[in-house]
Amino acid sequence: MTAAIIDGAALAKRGRAGLADEVAGMLAAGRPRPGLAVILASDDAASAIYVRGKTVAASEVGVHSEQIDLPPGTTQARVVEEVARLNADPAIHGILVQLPLYPGMDEEEVIDAIDPRKDVDGLHPFNFGKLAEGAPTVLPCTPAGIMECLRSAGVEIRGRRAVIVGRSIRVGRPLASLLLLEDATVTVCHSRSGDLGRFTREADILVAAVGRAGLVTGDMVKPGAAVIDVGMNRRPSSVPGGRDRIVGDVDRASVEPVAGHLTPVPGGVGPMTIAMLLANTVRAARAG
Ligand code: NAP
Repeated sequence: MTAAIIDGAALAKRGRAGLADEVAGMLAAGRPRPGLAVILASDDAASAIYVRGKTVAASEVGVHSEQIDLPPGTTQARVVEEVARLNADPAIHGILVQLPLYPGMDEEEVIDAIDPRKDVDGLHPFNFGKLAEGAPTVLPCTPAGIMECLRSAGVEIRGRRAVIVGRSIRVGRPLASLLLLEDATVTVCHSRSGDLGRFTREADILVAAVGRAGLVTGDMVKPGAAVIDVGMNRRPSSVPGGRDRIVGDVDRASVEPVAGHLTPVPGGVGPMTIAMLLANTVRAARAG
């Protein structure tokens, strides 16, 4: 068996095209242009690249975007103040605070400061609580993108065994809620789970969201399983002066011959995360 590759990049491109039409329709109807603000309070090089990707994708679909770069030395109070300013800005419908923040900053306090109606990352406790309840709410971008990947590939979820490796607020926990809502039986593994293979080998749907290159190998995968690789791990180029490579948490060479479906890295969950962010921004603008 060779896994069918779930082409997240193509799926995201179609999604963006649909959103561009939707934004054009909103403008033609006299509605305001959706606006997204992204706060970067970190000197993490990877975060700067992700933020750039988000603002470029926003302008592609006609969403107004603002990037707020807060330099090293910025205080926690200043970040919260910036969030408050954006909460009050009628041209901004979505606020995303790129994580992680500068070391020592309280991420929870910053996320809590976002108006839940502008929380397009779905991380505010109000929206997070709604999701856990199973009530309609804004969906966190990466988990929502993963669900779209599974749906697009026709992977059955109801009654299936799903195993998520990683229990972060951004990925593992909200994804567990979404899979439960679709009637999967869900196990969430983490750094204290011990032998991961005994859990992952039972998975019809296996999601790796850890941040460790090649953690999931072919011998840990049930034949035919749908394997979703969320990991984004930077590997220096083998060529001097070349660009870094991004690799996932899944060892593609050994997993591809065993799995039924597989998302690649890059070109899988990453582009879908951005598409979902834009979809959430457009939805927030419609509601606002
Ligand atoms: P995170 O907050 O660091 O969480 C990592 C999780 O992995 C934690 O729950 C941790 O367990 C668990 N873990 C660590 N080592 C483990 C091990 N050896 N065995 C089992 N579990 C282990 O990371 P995150 O924000 O969820 O991100 C995870 C990865 O996804 C990263 O590579 C990140 O860059 C990537 N990511 C990609 C996208 C995208 O759009 N493609 C979006 C978000 C994140 P404990 O809780 O016990 O510490």
